[in-house]
Amino acid sequence: MTEERLSFQAEVSKLLDIVVHSLYSDRRIFLRELISNASDACDKLRYEALTNPALREGSDDFRITLKVDADAKTIEIADNGIGMNRQDLIDNLGTIARSGTEAFVKQLQAAGKSGDASQIGQFGVGFYSSFMVANTVEVFTRRAGESEGWHWTSDGGGEFSIGEAEVAAPGTRIVLHLREDASEFLEAWRLKSTVKTYSDHIAIPVVLLGTEEKDGKTEDTAETLNEASALWTRPRSEITPEQYKEFYHHVGHAFDEPWHTVHFKAEGAIEYTGLLFIPSQKPFDLFQPERKTHVKLYVNRVFITDEAPDLLPSYLRFMRGIVDSSDLPLNVSREMLQHNPVLRKIQGGLVKRILSDLKKRAEANAEDYAAFWDIFGAVLKEGIYEDHERRQEVLELARFRSSTTDGWVSLADYKARMKTGQDTIYYITGDDPEVLKRSPQLEGFRAKGVEVLLLTDPVDEFWINSVPDFQDTPLKSAASSVEGLDEIAGPDASDETTTEDKAPADQIETLTKALKETLGDAVKDVRASSRLKESPVCLVAEDGGMSLHLERMLKQAGQ
Ligand code: ADP
Ligand code: MG
Repeated sequence: MTEERLSFQAEVSKLLDIVVHSLYSDRRIFLRELISNASDACDKLRYEALTNPALREGSDDFRITLKVDADAKTIEIADNGIGMNRQDLIDNLGTIARSGTEAFVKQLQAAGKSGDASQIGQFGVGFYSSFMVANTVEVFTRRAGESEGWHWTSDGGGEFSIGEAEVAAPGTRIVLHLREDASEFLEAWRLKSTVKTYSDHIAIPVVLLGTEEKDGKTEDTAETLNEASALWTRPRSEITPEQYKEFYHHVGHAFDEPWHTVHFKAEGAIEYTGLLFIPSQKPFDLFQPERKTHVKLYVNRVFITDEAPDLLPSYLRFMRGIVDSSDLPLNVSREMLQHNPVLRKIQGGLVKRILSDLKKRAEANAEDYAAFWDIFGAVLKEGIYEDHERRQEVLELARFRSSTTDGWVSLADYKARMKTGQDTIYYITGDDPEVLKRSPQLEGFRAKGVEVLLLTDPVDEFWINSVPDFQDTPLKSAASSVEGLDEIAGPDASDETTTEDKAPADQIETLTKALKETLGDAVKDVRASSRLKESPVCLVAEDGGMSLHLERMLKQAGQ
């Protein structure tokens, strides 16, 4: 048998180095990762077999098996799922396919250096976590529908080998040659409790194979370790928070605590179950240009796709979880899911549910909501211009930095504390809230104690021009509009500029004229203004024109 040696992608080598050389707080997660992959592989094959039944002909029900060989010091995890061919092995086990890989590895390295081992444990590194407990990993696999089998092996150094191998049936079998210090995993009770803790939610049976002495004879045993029913089909009252969390880790390929968990059944014209999560940590691909959503679609518990474009709008792409409906045909192809009316209706229901949950959490605890907003606010705000129907709802959920306070401010908060005579919500756009706060453009507002919202996310430039008002109060840029500022009562009337302080009109005219001549085409106009209190001049954007910030952004982007 000839084996070919290949090198891991540079990032994988770095990652393996961290995995092998860092002490993990909880090495049991290797089993969770391998079972999770086996379950995904069965889901994939089940789906492909819908349109190509030959792929499953003569095969047994889906199951994941565990086997221990105490003498050889090995554990095997096998599945009868989709399997891999040579190219799959190179692509999937030689590289890190996930987006944001580089950022991921950097973060992992930082955690490794900080010496805080418990931190690394949270990351979960998928297949590679097997090297936490094994010094050599072998993979025997055959892709469903193909006749050649393959053997992949690595000792977790910089290289792996691939060669042809006899593999009796489609699927994957992973053999871990345990490290000396990981022999605890040869104990059946250890495997059992690990599966129960981390993989109980897996919908396919996880079976421990073994032998038993009975009446002097050795008999084979097979013990199913998990509940083996789809978690979302179980009654809510029977699911523990830990089970929800483990399911979130599996389905979301995530490792953090979910910030929000919602499990519900929609009944009506279209029936579906949703089990959805909002992460508490920022996913790596949040700002990738594809703006992909990540909720998986199931039809009657059969996995269909995690790329149904109409299931959720992009501005909710931070959501993880599943939707299972019986109102779509089982043989629905991924193509048929484009512009599908049933899916559209489900989307409407999901968005409604998510926004109303967010509203409840915002009302219940502002600080807790701020934790969500810090990470996902910039994404949710895309909904203000992309979802016209729900614009006001999303605006209500939005929080902003402000010139007069340090925390997050809602538009309703702002309105509630507007000054006497103030009928406008003022905002200014820019990069940095601290710089904006000190901007000369806000001098007039500062002097009167008028609050100005500081919009510092790039996305703000896109929606702000299309939103004339919030609940009938106009939104205006403080950088281009000061009309109305005179009508607002200041903190102290004696502070106001008196007529005697003002320069005579003819002097102002001479000055502005001189400035205009000197500056020429560089400016559109030069005007006297009541907005300035300390600075002699400032730049303002034209009313109704592009904001200075947007202009700068477009210039940077080369437009
Ligand atoms: P992830 O599961 O997040 O994609 P992993 O490192 O766990 O990352 O796995 C990498 C890839 O290897 C998977 O996406 C899958 O394509 C492939 N893979 C891993 N285990 C199996 C398996 N048991 N059967 C088929 N493919 C697998
Ligand atoms: Mg995985």
